[in-house]
Amino acid sequence: MRIRLQLCFCLISAAPALAGGDAAGGRSVRPAIRRGAIDPVHHAVTTLRMTLQQIRAIQSELGVRLPAEVERSAGRLQQALGKTPQAFLDAVKQELAVSARGLRELGDAFQRKPLEDYLLHRQLSDRDKMLYAAATAATQHLRQRVGPALGQAAAQHRASASRVTVLHEYSVAGINARLRPDRPTVDLDVHLVRGSGVTWSMIRQELALARRTYAPYGIQLRLRSARKLRVPEDWLELRTQQPSKMPDPKLLAADPYRYLQQMETRLTPISTEVFAAIVEGVPSADRALQIVSLRRGSFPWPENGQLMEVDARADSFPPYVWTSTLPRRLRGLIGLFPFRHPSGELRPAIELGMLAHEIGHKLINVSHEGRAGGPEHESFKGGSRDLMVYGFGLEVPAGARGRWQQERLLLSPLLYTGKGKGKVYNADFEQNGKYDDPLYGPYYVTY
Ligand SMILES: [Zn+2]
Repeated sequence: MRIRLQLCFCLISAAPALAGGDAAGGRSVRPAIRRGAIDPVHHAVTTLRMTLQQIRAIQSELGVRLPAEVERSAGRLQQALGKTPQAFLDAVKQELAVSARGLRELGDAFQRKPLEDYLLHRQLSDRDKMLYAAATAATQHLRQRVGPALGQAAAQHRASASRVTVLHEYSVAGINARLRPDRPTVDLDVHLVRGSGVTWSMIRQELALARRTYAPYGIQLRLRSARKLRVPEDWLELRTQQPSKMPDPKLLAADPYRYLQQMETRLTPISTEVFAAIVEGVPSADRALQIVSLRRGSFPWPENGQLMEVDARADSFPPYVWTSTLPRRLRGLIGLFPFRHPSGELRPAIELGMLAHEIGHKLINVSHEGRAGGPEHESFKGGSRDLMVYGFGLEVPAGARGRWQQERLLLSPLLYTGKGKGKVYNADFEQNGKYDDPLYGPYYVTY
């Protein structure tokens, strides 16, 4: 078989979601800080902002997702914070409108006597008074609705983790013996699930090939841990993700990276639960590649105006697609899903070079592209030497003609030098790893 990955779907989808709205010419909602005492408007808006940040941090730490309704509400408020005061007020009213109690709180906060006196004393404008009341009410509203939801999600998460049994821990010490601390290195944790069809010898072979692939660029792969796991039978075959939106199909050809982002793909609830449970307890999981094997990982993909279920044989959940929609603890996730073929035939569990290619999606942060062209021409290019197009190539090209792949590779936030407590990581993404994240400076292609 010549084609490595007919549908490795290391590509696909993502969501900008909570990254914050563009001000679009409006004023920032953050009011000027007045001289002297604490400004109440500033205080209230800051509290709201911090509440949102705390929610995100807790979610990320637990690797859990809130109920969709709460998630959307928090997302809209977050976006509105960066827009005009009027847009912010409108958003707050809209979010609070979901419950009569919320509306009452808004009214109460505005009318409350001591508050009113204070605001009069401060000679705030009506707009600022309203902003203060709105931010105060929105903060309470979020705490009341999100707190219990987070608690519930955390309990569910703990219950899920207990369904994973470690059957065996492989020894990795000898495998890393020749690594040097002065070279850029990426850590890998391997989670082999029994019944998935991927074996330890396949992983060793793929790891060796991946090491040879990245060595010419000075990059080392360190196998930090490898375990064989037993998970519930109904976790072995999953629909891993689904798009939230269907962008204009013309955009796929015009600007594929923007198209993928506009799909706002998210993990399904079951896959969120499964992947979070599998990486449970892994230290600093967000700084290392998490290789997880399952038997099947499918997802819907638009073809000819319809969503068709696609069986990915591997999925790198790459930053250029997922940006902020993948829980932080899962941002190193690479799935190997060997058994099914779109036509229903069985196929080899792993084809040569597949792991190196998936790692490329993660570290280089590009789709299927290379010297032969951009991902808009994505197809099998016979004889290509490039790692990131279909075929047997294992080279990472440099410069504009190579679409800056080597340059991007060396900037990956997952790379570090040093060891133990002396590890120093590359700088992190500034905008969640979108294709043209500012981290890459000039190393991206504009459409
Ligand atoms: Zn791929």
